[in-house]
Amino acid sequence: MKISKKDLTAIVKEAYNAVKDENGGKNADYIPYLQNIPSSLFGIALCLPDGRIIEVGDTQYVFGIESVSKVLTAILVINEYGTAEVMNRIGADATGLPFNSIFAILLEKDHPSSPLVNAGAISACSMVKPTGDADKKWQAIDSYFARLCGGKLSVIDELYKSESATNFNNKSIAWLLKNYNRIYDDPDMSLDLYTRQCSYGVTARQLAVCGATIANKGVNPVTGERVFDSAIAPQIVSLIATVGFYEHTGDWLYTSGIPAKTGVGGGIMAIMPGSFGLAAFSPPLDDAGNSYRAQLAIKYITNKLGVNIFGDSVLEVV
Ligand code: GLU
Repeated sequence: MKISKKDLTAIVKEAYNAVKDENGGKNADYIPYLQNIPSSLFGIALCLPDGRIIEVGDTQYVFGIESVSKVLTAILVINEYGTAEVMNRIGADATGLPFNSIFAILLEKDHPSSPLVNAGAISACSMVKPTGDADKKWQAIDSYFARLCGGKLSVIDELYKSESATNFNNKSIAWLLKNYNRIYDDPDMSLDLYTRQCSYGVTARQLAVCGATIANKGVNPVTGERVFDSAIAPQIVSLIATVGFYEHTGDWLYTSGIPAKTGVGGGIMAIMPGSFGLAAFSPPLDDAGNSYRAQLAIKYITNKLGVNIFGDSVLEVV
């Protein structure tokens, strides 16, 4: 399907205007820092495989990446270990349960289920090389995130402190994984890496570039650098498609047609393979922890364009 950049820009702006006054949802309150972010913030950014970016609203506002970070570390470990090894050690299953579910680990004690829920993400951090060296592991995460997003990210210190002081549930997860031999480095260190990566500040624009890198099978369209092997792109998109919206993933995919990963900081990163990366950000969340306005905005755009991962159209922007 062909569309001009001008028409695509008009659709993104239309989505922004249609959604900006929607007032559903509320900021995450279980992480004190997130509670105080202005709820009216809202931005949409779309990045094409040739690096052109369309953006409207608060696309340069730096917010907590939170669970969207799980995708980036998943790519790092899949790229390092291969798809089969990550399947063996973590798995790729959707439990249909909330992102921080302990019950899910008890049910699936043979696997943390998927690197895109808390248990699997903490396990993925434990797999980052080199084993046993927290500083070098952090450097590996830090430089890889920069390559995926096309620029260095910085940790929001206040968020990191806020989350570290209140992450009792995640501590339980890390040690339960230890009980099942599903964590591959020190549990406290792995959890700290996870908490730090969730506390990265990111912009909607950077998430759109990261999404476009995935849509582009590993080549960052802005820097031109190959960041991961193109052969693993389908597995990455499948993880996002199956669990990106936690227990609302089926509803999301059915209504939006596009795999996307959310974070409780209010960001959503969506991927249309071969066509674009699309990010939206707005702090108020629905009851499953997904940004209320960002969901509406992305759905507006995909439905208007008629793109769907299960359809056959690739968007060609002229
Ligand atoms: N850091 C958050 C946590 O572990 C991430 C949750 C999310 O964004 O879904 O609870």
